Amino acid sequence: MLIHSESEMLKYGQKLGGELKAPIVLELLGDVGVGKTTLTRGIALGLGVNENITSPTFTVSKEYSGKNCRLVHYDFYRLSDPGIMSEDLAETISDPDTVTIIEWGQSIQDILPAKHKTIEIKYINENAREIIEK
Ligand code: ADP
Ligand code: MG
Repeated sequence: MLIHSESEMLKYGQKLGGELKAPIVLELLGDVGVGKTTLTRGIALGLGVNENITSPTFTVSKEYSGKNCRLVHYDFYRLSDPGIMSEDLAETISDPDTVTIIEWGQSIQDILPAKHKTIEIKYINENAREIIEK
């Protein structure tokens, strides 16, 4: 699916967020700056999160309250050894009321439940992205 702008990405995420039912784990794939955090912002809108979503790159995870669920957003960028965060993640994804979104999840693949959803974002040009739902 082709997304033509940042606002269209937010809209796509918002629709997706409105359809998600906790518990669910969403893995986002794609290069730096492709729009993973932007998509997460849209999903948060759809989940009814009122807070501003910021990239958890330095804190690894951030937590938000949605209308009917909790959203926990992880970013494992450059974390080759997730250490104690892997226990934190395991606990988060076992919570029935949580939507978990993961950026750069390569180092924690063995913890992901078999039934997680994967979305890949590909850079097309400055404003366009391709979304591949796996
Ligand atoms: P990531 O989390 O993948 O590193 P971000 O979401 O933080 O990426 O950043 C994406 C950047 O690309 C933002 O500056 C955003 O404004 C810009 N952008 C331009 N077009 C799009 C688009 N169609 N979808 C998402 N982001 C876009
Ligand atoms: Mg990001």
